[in-house]
Amino acid sequence: MINLKDLTFEELEKLISDIGEPKFRAKQIFTWICRGVSSFDEMTDISKNLRSKLAEISYLSNVKIAEKYISKIDGTRKYLVELDDGNKVECVAMFYKHGITVCISCQVGCAMGCKFCASTIGGKIRNLTPGEILDQVICVQKDVGERISNIVMMGIGEPLDNFENVIKFLKNVNHEYGLNIGYRHISLSTCGLVDKIYKLSEYNFPLTLSISLHAPNDKIRKTIMPVANKFSVDELITACKKYIENNSRRISFEYAIIKGVNDSDECALLLADKIKGMLCHVNLIPVNNVEENKFEKPDKNHIIKFKSILESKGINVTVRRELGSDISASCGQLRRANSNK
Ligand code: SAH
Repeated sequence: MINLKDLTFEELEKLISDIGEPKFRAKQIFTWICRGVSSFDEMTDISKNLRSKLAEISYLSNVKIAEKYISKIDGTRKYLVELDDGNKVECVAMFYKHGITVCISCQVGCAMGCKFCASTIGGKIRNLTPGEILDQVICVQKDVGERISNIVMMGIGEPLDNFENVIKFLKNVNHEYGLNIGYRHISLSTCGLVDKIYKLSEYNFPLTLSISLHAPNDKIRKTIMPVANKFSVDELITACKKYIENNSRRISFEYAIIKGVNDSDECALLLADKIKGMLCHVNLIPVNNVEENKFEKPDKNHIIKFKSILESKGINVTVRRELGSDISASCGQLRRANSNK
C-alpha cells in the first residue's frame, strides 16, 4: 500500500491515470490532502467509486498532536506530534509581524551526533517520509487557524541526510495546488553535508540555506560536531560559495556560541576572515543548556563583544531572539523528555 501523501503531484497524476481516471482528479485529491483530510471519505467532490478504488491501493498517513505548549510570553506554540507508528517529533509555530513561521522535523532522532544537541542523543530511528514532513505544516496550520507563511527546517533531524524525501516535500509544499509556500519563504538548515549541498544547489530552489557552522576552524569544530571529521570548514565554505553562485541567495551561518569553546576574540576574527566577501549573514545563538551536556552560554556582554568584532569586519550579524523560552525550547528536548517518562 502506498501513502498518497508521499507522492509528488506528478506521481499522483500518473497513479490516477494508471487506474483509468482523468488527470484533473489528481488536482482535487492533492488539494484535499493539503487541506488536511485524514480519510478518502472526506474528499466529497470525488465519486464513491474512485474513493473506494483509492482505498484499495493506498492510504493516508496522519500526524496528530500528542502534546502542545503555548508560551505565555510570546504565544509561540510548541508541539510534540505523533506519527502513525507511535514515533514522535517536534514542531514549533512562531508568530511574527510578517506572518507565521513553522519549524518542522525531518527525521525521528538524528545521526549527526553534535555534542550540544538534544535531538541526536538517542541516534537516528528513521527518516520521515515526504508526507509526514508535509503533514506537520498542515497539522500546525489547522491548529493555529491561520495560513502558515514561512517554514524553517530546523527541527529534529538532518534534512540533507534524508535528501530524496526532503526534495519531494519541498516540491509539494511549494506546489500551487497545495500550500503554495514560496521557496523564498523556506529555510533549510544543515550541519554541512558538503556533497549534498552541491546536489541541492543543482535544483536551483531559491530557498535560504542555513549552515550550522558553530566554529571557525576544524580543530574546534571537530570537538563539537563529528561531521567536521568528514568535511573541513574550507570545503564547506567552498560549497556555500557555489550555492550562492547558483541560487543568488544569501546564506545564513548559524553559530551557537558556547562559553570557553568557540567564543574567543580570536574565533570571531577567524570566522570573519573565513566568510568575508560572501553574500551571507551570521546568526549568533546563545547555546541552550541541555540536561545531558555541560555547555553554557557566555554572558550577554561577551556575546555583544563577539558580535561587534564580526561587525567591525563588515559581517552582518544578529543575535537570535529567544522565542518560547518558557516552554522548554531547544530542539529535541520535548521528545527526550517524553521518551524519558
Ligand atoms: N541538522 C540540521 C537541522 C537542525 S537545526 C542542522 O544541524 O542545521 C537546529 C539548529 O539548532 C542547528 O543550527 C543546531 O546546530 C542548533 N542547536 C542544536 N542544539 C542547540 C543548543 N543546545 N543550543 C543552540 N543551538 C542548538
